Amino acid sequence: MSPSSKRIAAVYDQVLARNPGEAEFHQAVKEVFDSLDRVLTRFPEYAEESILERICEPERQIIFRVPWTDDHGRVRINRGFRVQFNSALGPYKGGLRFDPSVMLGTVKFLGFEQIFKNALTGLPIGGGKGGSDFDPKGRSDGEIMRFCQSFMTEAYRHIGSSVDVPAGDIGVGAREIGYLFGQYKRIANRYEAGVITGKGTSWGGSLVRTEATGYGAVFFTEHMLKANGRGLDGARVLVSGSGNVAFYAIEKIHALGGLVIGASDSSGAVHDPQGIDLDVLREVKQVQRARISEYAQQRDSAEFIGGRSVWSVAEKHRVDVAMPCATQNELDDDDAKLLLKAGVSAVVEGANMPTTPAAIDRLRDAGTLFGPGKAANAGGVATSALEMQQNSIRDSWSFEYTEARLAEIMENIHARCAGTAEDYGVPRDYVAGANIAGFTQVADAMIAQGVI
Ligand code: GLU
Repeated sequence: MSPSSKRIAAVYDQVLARNPGEAEFHQAVKEVFDSLDRVLTRFPEYAEESILERICEPERQIIFRVPWTDDHGRVRINRGFRVQFNSALGPYKGGLRFDPSVMLGTVKFLGFEQIFKNALTGLPIGGGKGGSDFDPKGRSDGEIMRFCQSFMTEAYRHIGSSVDVPAGDIGVGAREIGYLFGQYKRIANRYEAGVITGKGTSWGGSLVRTEATGYGAVFFTEHMLKANGRGLDGARVLVSGSGNVAFYAIEKIHALGGLVIGASDSSGAVHDPQGIDLDVLREVKQVQRARISEYAQQRDSAEFIGGRSVWSVAEKHRVDVAMPCATQNELDDDDAKLLLKAGVSAVVEGANMPTTPAAIDRLRDAGTLFGPGKAANAGGVATSALEMQQNSIRDSWSFEYTEARLAEIMENIHARCAGTAEDYGVPRDYVAGANIAGFTQVADAMIAQGVI
């Protein structure tokens, strides 16, 4: 073991001991640490300055009670979180996730990823994340509003356009952002547009923000494929999920000539050899808020595969590209085996940490191009940062201009990851490229700002 890898292993043991039971956080830390051996060997000052230890400890963690009243007059209690992980590059920036699975370890894994993702955008944003174990499924608008108001009644003390800027994530979309912003404005008595992103476009939101994560992931995929002599034109693609990220990824893949033959939700998947019809998907998931089986009911060419993931489509059909766009650890080693048999040549993460470590190892060993989420899905937060820019100058940009900015940012992220991987002797390794490029930028800023 080299001195660098010994140091990394020791710090990782410390992370395990100090953060018991936070498996997802451990996984996210390990994935970054696994890329850093060469970095510490080249730049011993990162170890001398204890950057690894410092970067794994959030600057601040806020946990609070969120009481609210349901439609039957019963008082309910949820737990709220905001983890302000790292402000070396700018105000904390990252979404809020409302899902019953959310625990402190979930928010910490997401916040940790966000530090490096935000660095890769090249924009001045630090890393943070928040959320609650509140389950929005089946709740009325009134219940959602009361929950959001209660959440913000505590959260407003800790956020601000130069302090910490939340946004959406799973379970938090335009409706929730509206209620959260309204309550912030009411308590703070100021119209501070830049305090939250993902706002409605008529009241301070940015065009393209809704589409940005999905579009950005597809731009990244196209660059990655082009750099390796291919492209999305004619590619057969599986996209997991049917939420915001998946939806706009599908739209852009079709615009670039690819064919998405499968999508999914937590109840199962659909296989549609004619290509997913976005009008039908929109009607089912966004208007009716129904299960994905309804898509197969409404579309002759589609079949529903109940209780299975979208990767099961690869059992019988050729797949060129897979894009997990649902949630963490949704593509495991068995799925990776299936995809490899089906001929997959690229896997790109639209969600945060959707591929298990064993699956990533298998795909990389097989020579599959792998685009990690912290690079590939950075388009969402990058466009949030563009929203902050527009709010600062009290302006709003056209769709075309904003999309062009997003496209340029994704091109730069791709180039930075590819270039860094090359520089460190691991060409085509986008995981190493993303981790090293993000880490070194944040580490340098931390050293410059002293022991704080
Ligand atoms: N939740 C998104 C992410 O995972 C977006 C965060 C933001 O826009 O601040 O990057």
